[in-house]
Amino acid sequence: MKTELLKYFKQYKELYDDEIFVSSIKSSESILDEKPHKKTDPFSSLTVLKNDVINCKKCSLSDTRTNAVFGVGDFSASLMLVGEAPGEQEDLSGEPFVGRAGQLLDKMLAAIDRSRENDVFICNVLKCRPPENRDPKSDEINQCEPYLVNQIDLIKPKLIVALGRIAGKTLLGVDKSLKDMRKKIHNYHDSDLIVTYHPAALLRNPNWKPYAWEDFKWIRSILEEV
Ligand code: SF4
Repeated sequence: MKTELLKYFKQYKELYDDEIFVSSIKSSESILDEKPHKKTDPFSSLTVLKNDVINCKKCSLSDTRTNAVFGVGDFSASLMLVGEAPGEQEDLSGEPFVGRAGQLLDKMLAAIDRSRENDVFICNVLKCRPPENRDPKSDEINQCEPYLVNQIDLIKPKLIVALGRIAGKTLLGVDKSLKDMRKKIHNYHDSDLIVTYHPAALLRNPNWKPYAWEDFKWIRSILEEV
């Protein structure tokens, strides 16, 4: 099966070059093993937490937001994707990762046989948009991060993936480059965490897509480990 997959990837790369996130690639064992880490129903607590976030006024970003963006997806997901903060479209829609970057993320998820509705939860460190998309300030992170920690405690993902350097260094509390944080398994509140490219960065630099694809294949293999 491995040989067939390698052959498929090689052919696909030759055909489509950088556009490698366009197809759901079925693996024989990929989605058959179901979530050994699953836990009791977190739905009620997460619904309460979502209400808290929507009404939160703990920091000044509540004055400028249109919508707080709690996150979307499966409340018992094994994979949690965490970005930095909502952008303009996310602020308007109340949903994380919409627009072109969100569409690319959806394709990347489809390539590992997942979707926003299927075993994935997507959110950000900050739940409200910083004006002009500036970097989050430390006091805003300090106020908002407990919501993310609560989400993790309730969802209990097998793997957290930080999308982009800012999300990675914010969660890990280090000032490192993406290169230094990639390809390593870190720990965040007792969950494994890895760092990969933000889909918006991949749109700006399509030549990074093969490296992101390597990361997503690794993500799939981690999730498939029993
Ligand atoms: S960014 Fe977080 S802490 Fe600040 S108002 Fe929004 S939800 Fe509350």
